Amino acid sequence: MFFHILTLFPDMVMEGLSTSILGRAMEKGLIHIEAVNIRDYADNKHLRVDDYTYGGGAGMLMRAQPVYGAYEAVVEKIGYRPRVVYLTPQGEVFRQSKARELAEEEHLILLCGHYEGIDERVLEEIVTDYVSIGDYVLTGGELPAMVLVDAISRMVPGVLGNGDSGEIESFSDGLLEYPQYSRPEEWHGKHVPEVLLSGHPANIEKWRREQSILRTAARRPDLLEHAGLTPEEWECAGRVLARTDQPPEEWEKS
Ligand code: SAM
Repeated sequence: MFFHILTLFPDMVMEGLSTSILGRAMEKGLIHIEAVNIRDYADNKHLRVDDYTYGGGAGMLMRAQPVYGAYEAVVEKIGYRPRVVYLTPQGEVFRQSKARELAEEEHLILLCGHYEGIDERVLEEIVTDYVSIGDYVLTGGELPAMVLVDAISRMVPGVLGNGDSGEIESFSDGLLEYPQYSRPEEWHGKHVPEVLLSGHPANIEKWRREQSILRTAARRPDLLEHAGLTPEEWECAGRVLARTDQPPEEWEKS
């Protein structure tokens, strides 16, 4: 999969994405990430990419022309018009399902704004998806773009060492993941739950499913509605939901 990140800060995104799992995925050729410097496409002598906003108001706006130039350069290189995601606090909130959907694309352009954002006219012309990483405002789209590249890359076959591990995590079945433990069996007086030491796969799976339901009910009850729970599982979740007068940490223990 090919990511083309249109940005004013190419070093920031490349440095942030070149280590660990994504770095190895790039070395193996499973994903390709290029940062396209929008400034390189400015058509004026001083390579100016921002300007004042019409109508007044504080702050500068990224001009349409260099953004469009950077976009056209990618289109020319790959030979078609791919999906273009503009990272913006005004977009749909990014979810695992969107990561899965975008991982189906061969090429994806991620457009990072800065300052007050980008001239609306170029957005109207090139953007196919408006995506936010949450209800808060950042100084630029670079961190959000990195978040998307990370989450989408994990859905690309071969990127994760264990082929299954992307499928059994939080959100993959609409629920949060169950708690996990590693060695030693006892730490600070806390013991690994007995069932996980039993070597009984069916019991372990049952325990994990139940823990996922309890955890989701305690921390993200809004997810339960679309998680496809059976009536018995709703009963299990209900044990937590009935205790909303206690702090969340207490709900899970019961
Ligand atoms: N004036 C814009 C508004 O009110 O919607 C905010 C501009 S923000 C200071 C600058 C850039 O940061 C945006 O163009 C966008 O690319 C990025 N950005 C900020 N917050 C974001 C968020 N929550 N999700 C995705 N991108 C964000």
